[in-house]
Amino acid sequence: MPENKNLNPIKWKMTHMKISTSRIAFALSLALPCSMTHAATVYTGDKVQGVPVISTLDVADLTAGQHRFMFEGVETGTGQRWYVPIMVAKGKTDGKKVLLQAGVHGDELNGVRIVQKVMEQLDPAKMKGSVIGIIGPNRSGLERVSRTWSVSTDGGETIDYNRVHPGKETGNTAERQAWMMWNKVYKGNVDLAIDYHTQSTGTAYPLFIYADYRNADARTIAELFPADQIKKDPGEAGSMETTFIQNGIPAITAETGEPRIYQQDMIARGLEGALNVLIHYKVIEGKIGATARSNKTYIPVIIEDA
Ligand SMILES: [Zn+2]
Repeated sequence: MPENKNLNPIKWKMTHMKISTSRIAFALSLALPCSMTHAATVYTGDKVQGVPVISTLDVADLTAGQHRFMFEGVETGTGQRWYVPIMVAKGKTDGKKVLLQAGVHGDELNGVRIVQKVMEQLDPAKMKGSVIGIIGPNRSGLERVSRTWSVSTDGGETIDYNRVHPGKETGNTAERQAWMMWNKVYKGNVDLAIDYHTQSTGTAYPLFIYADYRNADARTIAELFPADQIKKDPGEAGSMETTFIQNGIPAITAETGEPRIYQQDMIARGLEGALNVLIHYKVIEGKIGATARSNKTYIPVIIEDA
């Protein structure tokens, strides 16, 4: 996902073969912050492809069960809207509210399938809390199979949608979309978040996680994935992950391989990580599968930690 992260995947592969795995004790903290904002879900009355359109989501007012919505995002140049598909699986009893998201960059596919696979196997009758699955908040990028958001300013320019959060209400369309997602969808509905990415067109990653280890739960979430590598990372200003962290909500960026294709191994491991997180935080019942520990994930020791 990020172009300016300090990682060379080829170099990493060579290093990985030579350096033994860091084994890191899990530091668990269940003291997650919880926003008390309750906006109430707003239905516009429209439907898109048979799915009800909403302009605000409040999971608290939904009935237990599976729900599908189209979120009415920012206005296009012709005055119509970008719609963002949102799925919600809400359990019968309270618990953590987990966001699974893909499509913040428009050329990244593996995470899309991971989110779909998680949502299709959730049984709300057996869940505590809720899971929100969001695919493609960067609608401009998805339409153009590009990591960027295209704006018409000055005859056309492109913006990295993962550097504009939490957005601006009166900014350009990318900033405004981010503001709407943050204030009308995420706010009050998310206790922890997994933002799925891949590398950008022309490059490839292993299963690679960026996690801010200053946040204990971000570390826990990262190490529940059977990744190839975890990078302890303070984040990027304006990214989805970092903006959640700055607002007290644990989040990771999960990089799942190459763009533009579906890779079964990446999808399987990205799915396993998500299910492990849901089991660990007691949203669903089950047995924790492969994790960073069992997969011998490479976690470099940063010099400041020594
Ligand atoms: Zn990305």
